[in-house]
Amino acid sequence: MLTSSELINLVKGYNPKANANLLRKAYIFAMEAHGVQKRASGAPYFYHPLEVARFLAELKLDVATVVTGLLHDILEDTKVSFEELEEIFGAEVALLVEGVTKLSKISYMATEIHPAENFQKFIFATSHDIRILVVKLVDRLNNMRTINHIVSIAKRKKIALETLEIYAPLAECIGMNIIKDEIEDLAFYNLHPEEYSAIALKLEKIRNKDSDFVFDTKSELEKVFKDAGINASISGREKKIYSIWKKMQKRNISFEQINDIIAFRVVVSTIQQCYLSLGIIHTHFQVVPGRFKDYISIPKLNNYRSLHTSVIGQRHQAIEIQIRTEEMHRVADEGVAAHWSYKNGDVIAEKDNSRNNVWIKSIISIIQTAGSPEEIMNYSKLEMFENRVFCFTPRGNLIILPYGATAIDFAYGIHTIIGNTCVGAKINGKMASLRTALKNGDQIDVITSPYQHPQAIWENFAVTGKAKSNIKKIIKAREKIEFTMLGLRLSKYIFSLKNICFNEDLIDPQKNSCSSLDKFYFNVGKGIISLNRIRNIFPKSENQVDVYENYLYLSGLTPGVAVHFADCCHPILGDRVISVLVPQTGIVIHTTSCSCIAKNEYDFIKVKWNQNDETDPSFIARLQIVIENKTEGFSLITNIISSNNANITNLKVEHRGIDFFSLLVDVKLKDSIHLGEILAALWMCPAVRSVKRI
Ligand code: MN
Repeated sequence: MLTSSELINLVKGYNPKANANLLRKAYIFAMEAHGVQKRASGAPYFYHPLEVARFLAELKLDVATVVTGLLHDILEDTKVSFEELEEIFGAEVALLVEGVTKLSKISYMATEIHPAENFQKFIFATSHDIRILVVKLVDRLNNMRTINHIVSIAKRKKIALETLEIYAPLAECIGMNIIKDEIEDLAFYNLHPEEYSAIALKLEKIRNKDSDFVFDTKSELEKVFKDAGINASISGREKKIYSIWKKMQKRNISFEQINDIIAFRVVVSTIQQCYLSLGIIHTHFQVVPGRFKDYISIPKLNNYRSLHTSVIGQRHQAIEIQIRTEEMHRVADEGVAAHWSYKNGDVIAEKDNSRNNVWIKSIISIIQTAGSPEEIMNYSKLEMFENRVFCFTPRGNLIILPYGATAIDFAYGIHTIIGNTCVGAKINGKMASLRTALKNGDQIDVITSPYQHPQAIWENFAVTGKAKSNIKKIIKAREKIEFTMLGLRLSKYIFSLKNICFNEDLIDPQKNSCSSLDKFYFNVGKGIISLNRIRNIFPKSENQVDVYENYLYLSGLTPGVAVHFADCCHPILGDRVISVLVPQTGIVIHTTSCSCIAKNEYDFIKVKWNQNDETDPSFIARLQIVIENKTEGFSLITNIISSNNANITNLKVEHRGIDFFSLLVDVKLKDSIHLGEILAALWMCPAVRSVKRI
């Protein structure tokens, strides 16, 4: 096992000013945090992050990245929190580790399709720092190297497929071919062992049969360059098994028909020498027409640069030759990771933002040099993000939703109970309404209240089946109970108006096309059976005491189901109110001063919440609050309201300006005195510019 001193020395080798303390601290922290956890191989879990860190150090990455390698599984696999990481290792490392954790969670998405644009957005949103992606790829490389310890073949195949479809294209996208090549072959071996072995066997044969050919060609090239006075390093390179297989599939050809199984690589010092070398080769050998490619003038999307040519060798067979500089060679292997250079031992300062520039430049060049998003897609087979948005909980858990999904869908995505009780959401730290459509990478903090229940209006902007069906189910169930209860109360109320003791025997459901009394009450509550029909059913001769004093009592009914507070005047207890029965809606309560009342076409019904007292806290007032546009502004408001024993049932951002934003807040209150207290408390808050009841 690599010791902490060995790891530090490795980093100090290219970055003499590296923070050794931070590395040592992370080494010990990760070892202790993973404790007795074991890998599938039975080895201590810590070996895995340590190997990841070692590879990152071999790529000569900065200290924060190597530390992230050590800590990358901490958030997911141990009890350590983001806050702890932040406190011990600083925000940079904590954010990197969090990023790797989020990126890991895309893996169970395997098959769906998406446009490249979404993929770009997703990568931007998730890997806001390219180092996150680099660590993730090295993590996957180590997992693939140890995949043979996983017993279940199905599980191995799943991981291998994911590697081939997601991680290898990502590695290629940022030019890390050193990782791409290895994970592709490992994945291919696990997915198609027979094909892999067949190709490996044929390669072995060629290697034995053609060893002279490789040696001779290499010697000949070396001699040519020596004669020309150019210092070149020449090597032969075998094509990888998976790329051979891919080529066979794509062109429908046999192994024997592939002519670039062995390529030669000429590495020289300068770009001028590259073109000079090309001239020398083309002078010495016969050129295969149409095979020359200049990726130096026109680099590939991932910044790969080289000259490619094919010539006829001694045995009259085509030889592929790649010519490049040392620097191009490193980029060809390591891609973006090659940009962290510590030339001549010079240190790039930890705070240097060139790192960010590198990230932005490399990804932007990948995205912009491509003529169209489709081109990038050809590049990477990441096809699973179509019509999907990737959103995160405050703890970094990924919730995948269909395109157009809103905060309410997210709430139900976490848990049905969260959905049923949500009142609002903070999106990326800013207050937003439940109907806000979500974007890739959004982080959503759902605000719940134990007094909340699903609102019928939510159905209008819920997108997911889960949210819709839950809302519908609960609303339906409650509607049935509450309309029935309301119908019974209305029937009693009509009896009381006529001063007749309520008697169910006098009601004939069949006469009103109802199969049962419950159905009859339900239809009365819903306004389907008019109140006049009840007036007509009881005998005129009865003359009993009126126990209800001509009020309709509403205790036990939930506002928003069969009983509604009018949207126009938002009455609360203490207001003088009057109500009407609206067909298909139920009872709607207005203030007596409401202008809607004058033009109302329905019968007025006098209502009281409770027969005995008026303390039921079920009244809702809508407040318009204008507040300074600060992230903490919102929590101030909720704190003030809750510390005054009231509950928020709905929140909506009405308008957001640069300095101020205006909220509509529905607050559940006891009475008008309670409202006065809350208004006063809100006014006392310095961040509040204005507050009024509307
Ligand atoms: Mn890992």
